[in-house]
Amino acid sequence: MLKSERLFQRAQALLPGGVNSPVRAFRAVGGTPPFIESGQGPWIYDVDGRRYVDYVCSWGPLILGHAHPRVIEALQEALRRGTSFGATTKVELELAELLQRHLPSLEMVRMTSSGTEATMSTLRLARGYTGRKLVVKFEGCYHGHGDAFLVKAGSGAATLGVPSSAGIPPEISALTAVLPYNDLTAARDLFAKRGKEIAAVIVEPVAGNMGVIPPREGFLQGLQELCRQYGALFVLDEVITGFRLCLGGAQNLMGLQPDLTCLGKIIGGGLPVGAFGGRREVMEGLAPLGAVYQAGTLSGNPLAMAAGRETLRVLEEEHPYDRLEQQTTWLCQEMEEAARRKGVPLRVQHAGSMFTPFCTAQPVWNYQEASKCDLQRFSTLFHQLLARGIYPPASQFESWFLSTAHGEEHLELTLEAFKKSLEAM
Ligand code: PMP
Repeated sequence: MLKSERLFQRAQALLPGGVNSPVRAFRAVGGTPPFIESGQGPWIYDVDGRRYVDYVCSWGPLILGHAHPRVIEALQEALRRGTSFGATTKVELELAELLQRHLPSLEMVRMTSSGTEATMSTLRLARGYTGRKLVVKFEGCYHGHGDAFLVKAGSGAATLGVPSSAGIPPEISALTAVLPYNDLTAARDLFAKRGKEIAAVIVEPVAGNMGVIPPREGFLQGLQELCRQYGALFVLDEVITGFRLCLGGAQNLMGLQPDLTCLGKIIGGGLPVGAFGGRREVMEGLAPLGAVYQAGTLSGNPLAMAAGRETLRVLEEEHPYDRLEQQTTWLCQEMEEAARRKGVPLRVQHAGSMFTPFCTAQPVWNYQEASKCDLQRFSTLFHQLLARGIYPPASQFESWFLSTAHGEEHLELTLEAFKKSLEAM
């Protein structure tokens, strides 16, 4: 018996599903998840001594790969000074300044300990500011596990087939309107009927939680205009896309001016983090300035801030985005071409260094289309790759991530394993 199998048995007796976050349990693909012991660059190592080229990268934060020496050094230095003070430190301010430099729409910023807290707090703030109740989200988008957002949600919720969670009173869900991603007409119709009730529209500028789905031309701009027209706040959830697609967010690339932005993942360099920010007038609604309460014992934690600040500094110095995009494009094209030659239906969609091989012949523009993928085939692909030392996310409805530590040799290894995996499909 593998050590991972023994550990997983022990874990299942104590942790629901053996995990602390559902997708880690491999329910969608079956099998025992390897217990991970360490990571180095693009590699992770499990307790049984097997190594994998990692495409999860902690679900997005590790754009510099595992245990990047600069991040580790920054953490060691911060650690020596103490782990938490519950009082303001200079590094919080410096990270906030870095965020603002690259995301000018953040006139003010507040740090949290997770993306979920950032989105939940953003919604409370939007409701407080507008005095309205309704929030609009898109099917298959995931904005953390706040009650308002677990309605037709993506990521683990979609993976487990519970896109709308139990335990949320219908009175709460009734305040969330859900629309199909990339469908501006549906959004216009909703605004025409209920525009004056809408506090905020929240959207992933590139969807990453139903697999990677880029926005159609004009979709996000159209949403922004609708929000302006009806006095709703336009909220971009850049928890994944922030500092993933460029220095800054998708908003820089697409010329968007959100009222509020949610961040997380990369800005914490692999430590627990989130942040939200935006227009000064709206952010001044937050306690202690305003009447919208929001707080956190570990918010702006000095270790997380130090890891985030160092990660962003490395990204500023190295500007790796063109290379990441080229490498990702190459891998995606090679995968699609190899599948085509084998007659396996596969669409590999990507934006920057986030990508998803969809087990379908059709392009995927929304959740309905993503859900038509052959999940059995994805599961086979997943296990074939895992057995060959490649570690993909354990669900069709997730993004794969490349890091700056992934070099040509790792991509070649991946492609070779992928081609062999196709033989078994
Ligand atoms: N928003 C988006 C777009 C996300 O992808 C996630 C997490 N994957 C969240 C919010 C929630 O972040 P966290 O898991 O840190 O609470």
